[in-house]
Amino acid sequence: MDFTLRRYHRYLTALKEQFGGTHTFAQLVGSALPERFCALRHDVDRRVDRAVAMAELEHSLGLVASYYFRIPYTFDPKSIHAIEALGHEVGYHYENVSESNGDMVVALEDFGKKLEQLRSVAKVSTCCMHGRPLKPYDNRDLWRDPARHTLLKERFGMLGELYLDIDYTDIAYINDTGRNWTSGKANRRDHVNSAVTASFDSGDELLTYFRGRPHHRLVFQVHPERWTDSWTGHAGQWALDTAINVAKQGVNLLRR
Ligand SMILES: [Zn+2]
Repeated sequence: MDFTLRRYHRYLTALKEQFGGTHTFAQLVGSALPERFCALRHDVDRRVDRAVAMAELEHSLGLVASYYFRIPYTFDPKSIHAIEALGHEVGYHYENVSESNGDMVVALEDFGKKLEQLRSVAKVSTCCMHGRPLKPYDNRDLWRDPARHTLLKERFGMLGELYLDIDYTDIAYINDTGRNWTSGKANRRDHVNSAVTASFDSGDELLTYFRGRPHHRLVFQVHPERWTDSWTGHAGQWALDTAINVAKQGVNLLRR
């Protein structure tokens, strides 16, 4: 069954065999991309406990990943600290524009305050936006203005933002958004401009791809809250994902 930790373990084993190891985004953002790398990105939208379980599994395989936390929604100092102690990167999963209903001045201040809160627990040098599918704002707009983008690096001392400071053209970008492996569907904002086709009809197809000849630069983005070996946990998460997808499709229809 897909979306179990057991299954994730198989994906990781295949990737480790291909790439030897993994990079964190702190190693990638703001510098020239290595010719060959695999990076694991985790947006911790909910369920920090599942992020900890995933972090332990990766650590047991000698792999590092980048975990992005929402403040205050998944700000759990003890767990964040534990994840960092395993050698993983901690980053900020920001949503300040939607939280401030589009007021950029308020959003910028909010970003600074929450970043500081996260930095009281861990070292933070990269960030990525949270989608907030039901709100009409794109949180990345906070940094699209070049002057504000400079602030991100200078005032906040960040290496950069994952969507805006990485050129994805030559990167295979594979994510579990929409609870499937097909790119594009149900991903209103979680989308990058890649020229590499990475769309799979099933988890088995994905595993075959990882074991075969995956693209030489690869980002594997999975949401820890969706991955559990517990059967009841699965049923609950499935219901939640389905409800969110239905709501997203509704919003898409309204926008057409
Ligand atoms: Zn998110």
